[in-house]
Amino acid sequence: MEKRYCYCGSEMMPTEDGDIYICPICSPNNPNQTQFPNKGHSGRGAAVRTAIKDTEKANAEAEAERAENARVYGIDPGSRDVERIENAAEWELFLEYYSVTKIAWRLNHDGSRDHSRGHISDKAWASMQKDLAELQYDIEYLLYAICKKIGIDVPDPEVDKHVSPDRETFMKWYRFYNNHFMNTLSDKEWHTFETKRKNGEDVSAYLPSGDWRK
Ligand SMILES: [Zn+2]
Repeated sequence: MEKRYCYCGSEMMPTEDGDIYICPICSPNNPNQTQFPNKGHSGRGAAVRTAIKDTEKANAEAEAERAENARVYGIDPGSRDVERIENAAEWELFLEYYSVTKIAWRLNHDGSRDHSRGHISDKAWASMQKDLAELQYDIEYLLYAICKKIGIDVPDPEVDKHVSPDRETFMKWYRFYNNHFMNTLSDKEWHTFETKRKNGEDVSAYLPSGDWRK
């Protein structure tokens, strides 16, 4: 099968629907282009310089306050259950990540399609985009939690930054679980696994064996 790559450079992964490819690293709603205002200036004269200084001070204070109160990707859990994620097994984290990125992808894909065809109102589409922006916190919280748990290099979360793990290692991990759950397990095995999992039964026979690092 021909490999597809996202603009961020990561390999796109097919979901079980077949024709849908998702970038596991920058999820669909990732604007990926955070821009900072250019603070450069060319003042003339003392009065102008003072005025600029005052403005800069006020700007710096406002910026510091904004940064302090800002929601940070990777730290803000969105609607995720922090305790559950803390106690989740690696394969559980994969499945949760898989499902939330897919939900976001679907919402974005179907929403923009329906909106461009005039099937949904501007208001409805705006509201979906708001939901997507919220989901991005969930996604990046999980992404960061996964990296920390399994030891993938990832910079500390920062205001205005998206969580950006070491792509190659993360993809290796992702492919390992994706391949097991989506390809290795038959449909029947997958359904049994899902049922047992929901009922809190032992699912160890349905989990991948081996080491994703190899
Ligand atoms: Zn990407």
